[in-house]
Amino acid sequence: MAPALLIPTLLDEPYEASGQPQKAAPCTGTSIVERNKAYWSTQPRPSLLHRSFHEQPVVVASASQNYLTLHDGTRILDACGGAAVAILGHGNKEVVAAMTEQAATVAYVHTLSYTTQAAEDLAKLLVGHKPGGLSKAFFLGSGSEANDGAMKIARQFFFERNDPQRTHFIARRQAYHGNTWGPMSLSNNVSRLVPYKDILMPNVSHVSPCYPYQYQRSGESDAQYVRRLAAELDDEFTRVGPQRVIAFVAETVGGATSGCITAPPGYFSAMKAVCRKHGALFVLDEVMCGMGRTGTTMAWEQEDGDASPDIMTIGKGLGGGYAPIAGILVHQDIIDQLDQGTGCFNHGHTYQAHPMSCAAALAVQSIVRREGLVQRCAEMGKRLEMGLKQRLADEPHVGEIRGRGLFWGIEFVQDKSTRTPFDPALKIGPSVQREALELGVNIYPGAGTLDGVKGDHVLIAPPFTVTEAEIEAITRTVLEAYRRVVSRPQ
Ligand SMILES: *Cc1c(COP(=O)(O)O)cnc(C)c1O
Repeated sequence: MAPALLIPTLLDEPYEASGQPQKAAPCTGTSIVERNKAYWSTQPRPSLLHRSFHEQPVVVASASQNYLTLHDGTRILDACGGAAVAILGHGNKEVVAAMTEQAATVAYVHTLSYTTQAAEDLAKLLVGHKPGGLSKAFFLGSGSEANDGAMKIARQFFFERNDPQRTHFIARRQAYHGNTWGPMSLSNNVSRLVPYKDILMPNVSHVSPCYPYQYQRSGESDAQYVRRLAAELDDEFTRVGPQRVIAFVAETVGGATSGCITAPPGYFSAMKAVCRKHGALFVLDEVMCGMGRTGTTMAWEQEDGDASPDIMTIGKGLGGGYAPIAGILVHQDIIDQLDQGTGCFNHGHTYQAHPMSCAAALAVQSIVRREGLVQRCAEMGKRLEMGLKQRLADEPHVGEIRGRGLFWGIEFVQDKSTRTPFDPALKIGPSVQREALELGVNIYPGAGTLDGVKGDHVLIAPPFTVTEAEIEAITRTVLEAYRRVVSRPQ
């Protein structure tokens, strides 16, 4: 091990933040984790309920462009923007100015009686041109709320169409749709569900994920695999009672649970065709993969055939992290049905279409359009793919490198020939993330890749503003982090 090599390869230039040459954690002998422990030992017990009671999170003092600066001056390249959130990087002055202006003009009104220009303009920007027939947008504070609302408008659609017996949702295993009750029931991220699995909504069932690397049979062609999955969905409709199903719900590109799984050509149009056959809705969750992350504004635009959703949800990249905002985009046919019925959507939240969140998202999305950043995401994505594949594809424990745009997952396996995962107790995915952090690069860890228990991956989703030099630094660092983990005594 030659730590002196590591940090200088990061960007081949000194850290600016501390003004010191980039001798970060590995060179000084104390790690970020150790320095963080030392920091917290000087603090009173936190009043904030953190995710872990035993390990305190790292305090970030500031964030600018594609970097985080920690409390002790350590600078971290943000190669995942949180969970694929920060599409513009951090501290964008134009976004901050738009939010400040909105705060000073009108910070809040209740949507029962009022609206704001920021909310109207954001909706127009997203659905004014009716992409795939989606014609209305509804804004909320989180992806979970968006999926909750999507489930409710789908149910209301059938209720008003005199189809009240439709009460069931079909989702996929290895999916994540959120942490509030409805979306948690749709989700099948086993580790997040353990305490709650006996009290989830009973009217949800799950079919197989579309996950070729682990679940496509050897000798099975893409077309055969797609047909098998469509037949499984069709059988599930039959089992539940086709007249009872409201919708099939899926992530267009799988997100955090299994790490950027893409479907073979024709999968989504085949699944939509099954929904149509039984009169159910086709709902896509693009909270993580949407808003340009995969190289097109909507991830479904890259799918073969007719894969446009009746309802879709967006979130993370929508506001780029500047404010909490997510959205439901609804097809004109659903709007028409409600229009002929009660003439309202029976749903609402205090912070729905919050003016400052809408102003932030409007600024973020305006910059994305003006600067051609979705196109840039597609182009830089190709470089990231090339870099990751060149550096890591031949490594003995790198099973698959998959993704689209600037949304990449690396699945680690114990045995590449049988695609057998590591023992979960080794925590390979989280360990690679931790080593990468020590080397100055923030990536997103994943475990339970295969079935919620077994399997490891990391997720790389840098801002669309990522530079070539930064991509170089990311791929080098991920390789080094991986090597450190697999070479340690087990
Ligand atoms: C993150 C995520 C959600 C939940 O969004 P929150 O803002 O965390 O509530 C839903 N669906 C997908 C695909 C996600 O990645």
